[in-house]
Amino acid sequence: MTPPIGVDLTDEQAMAVAFRHLASIGFAENLAGHITWQPDGRAEMYVNPWGLWWQEVTASDICVVDENARVQRGRWDVTPAIHIHTELHRVRPDARVVIHNHPYYVCVLAALGRLPELVHQTGSLFLDDLCLVDEYDGEVDSRSRAAELAARIGTANLTILANHGVIATGRNLAEAVYRAASIERVCKLAYDVLLTNLKPAEMKWSDMVGMKASLIERAADVYWAGAARMTIKSDPSVLQ
Ligand SMILES: [Zn+2]
Repeated sequence: MTPPIGVDLTDEQAMAVAFRHLASIGFAENLAGHITWQPDGRAEMYVNPWGLWWQEVTASDICVVDENARVQRGRWDVTPAIHIHTELHRVRPDARVVIHNHPYYVCVLAALGRLPELVHQTGSLFLDDLCLVDEYDGEVDSRSRAAELAARIGTANLTILANHGVIATGRNLAEAVYRAASIERVCKLAYDVLLTNLKPAEMKWSDMVGMKASLIERAADVYWAGAARMTIKSDPSVLQ
């Protein structure tokens, strides 16, 4: 038994909680970024409207687009970069949730064109699951460019885009949010370790495999429940 969220969230409320939580830990660069959730077996997906800051999103702000990114429901338009999400959902049955933004420490490593060295047990979450797109070539705002990006991402759940930001995926909101929150911490730690100019202690690959499974199976849901409780407590209007 683990502590529950305490409320049954609608899909839109769960989305709003995800935006607010990630904003609260510094993951969101103001206007930039989007989260999509295409529930299993459905063509439509939930997404944030373009122009709202993540920290102000409420459940009623969540838009619905079809599999080709046409807005089906919602008061505002969505980002032209929506194709990054639709094309990834199209080819990755396991990536039901896709999160993109420009968190600061991810962007420090993205500016150096490198992936974080995994030097802490939480980093095991990303073992053999990281992709680096090492060349920046402008905005991904068309379906064909997004399909190329999805092909480069392959099966990875975490991609760092050079000079740009990050794409985290998951089978559900809990998993994707946990990866998103964790990668910023992992990059901050890797950056601070780099600054020491010392050689970090190594972890055994076999130990990291076990830790990775444990983090995905046990930590993600518990993290999400806590994130939801804290977000709702700090501003219950997120659910409106
Ligand atoms: Zn971006």
